[in-house]
Amino acid sequence: MAFGFGAPGLELLLDEPGISATVQRLADELSERHEDGVVLVAVLRGSVPFLADLARAMSIRSVVDFVALTSYTPGAGRVRILMDVTTDLTDRDVVLVEEIVDTGLTSAFLLSELGRRDVRSLSICTLINRPARRVAPVKLDHVGLEIPDRYVIGYGLDHQGRYRNLRVLATADTDVLAKDPDAYVEALYGA
Ligand code: 5GP
Repeated sequence: MAFGFGAPGLELLLDEPGISATVQRLADELSERHEDGVVLVAVLRGSVPFLADLARAMSIRSVVDFVALTSYTPGAGRVRILMDVTTDLTDRDVVLVEEIVDTGLTSAFLLSELGRRDVRSLSICTLINRPARRVAPVKLDHVGLEIPDRYVIGYGLDHQGRYRNLRVLATADTDVLAKDPDAYVEALYGA
């Protein structure tokens, strides 16, 4: 049966082999660039599957750590750190690992926060770049896939807590999800 057959607005963006190949390419780029190893800093929670696959696909030493942020909502003020890394980043090559860069506000905020910690280098590795709604211009050093202005679910990306554990990346219709957040559950997980 075709992916998401019968579910309006649900389309496959990247299947499992496509994700693996993309992650491997990014891992090779990072391994080549950072022979001495890296600290991978991932933003909870969406980037967890990507981080796990990326770290294992790299051929260099890595330390993994996490930050959790308050979610950005227009008018609610700036983003804040809810949980910080515990790794000492002094003189380390630090790579910010993100699942998707959309407005760029998360990346810009973290670049400025982590950049104050006497790191040796700081770069961004994102699985998906969606430039259409960029507000904060950020330099993305390693990009897996650039996409048009479509909402993405799966492989870590959720919609109100759903769909995060899909092994693939899919694009979804936000109008359909606004009416019913469970709209794609049956098509993706069975009845
Ligand atoms: P930013 O707008 O700061 O670049 O991204 C903020 C966060 O919004 C991302 O880390 C991600 O968690 C979430 N986000 C952005 N675009 C999407 C999307 O298409 N789907 C989902 N599920 N989350 C997204």
